[in-house]
Amino acid sequence: MKKSDVIKAWGRILTGRQPSLSIEITRECPLRCPGCYAYEPEHLQETGQNLRSVSDYKGDDLINKVLELVREHRPLHLSIVGGEPLVRFRELNILLPQLSAMGISVQLVTSAVREIPKAWNKIENLTIVVSIDGLPPEYDARCQSATYERILRNIAEHRITVHCTVTGQTANRPGYYEKFLNFWSEREEVRRVCFVTVNE
Ligand code: SF4
Repeated sequence: MKKSDVIKAWGRILTGRQPSLSIEITRECPLRCPGCYAYEPEHLQETGQNLRSVSDYKGDDLINKVLELVREHRPLHLSIVGGEPLVRFRELNILLPQLSAMGISVQLVTSAVREIPKAWNKIENLTIVVSIDGLPPEYDARCQSATYERILRNIAEHRITVHCTVTGQTANRPGYYEKFLNFWSEREEVRRVCFVTVNE
């Protein structure tokens, strides 16, 4: 980010806009990753509910609710997460261009378990972040429906950010993450690779 962008963003925040907002647009996900945080009891701690006990908005209801929240909070940056946001791809086909036209920078976080619509690669200010937490032997075994083969097919023709959570299982393996970085850096679809660590 350029210095002028930071100054511009601060100016907008001082006029009352929120720096960022994150919306879980669905609780549904076709995967069953071990250790998935989304269904942990703490995840919705402020509501005292579990994600499985709440119901999703769909169709126009979902579109209108997201736009309502965005108009209310006026974020500079919006993260769309799940569950798996791609299960609501029909609603996103309508929402994403509208959010872009509103000048909001959107980050969509997905496991790329289904094809990412090709039209999305023309939407300005949209960043597609694909969570991939390891190399094929570990990742394919862990997330059985979202294998490397499937991810590579589903991200074709897009420009994505790879997001990798470093796990205790692989953190101490010499050269593991260099290999991961080399694999993804060489792909033409990849603009950036981010690593985060978690306490397990
Ligand atoms: S892709 Fe995400 S939401 Fe779905 S099971 Fe895995 S960790 Fe949970």
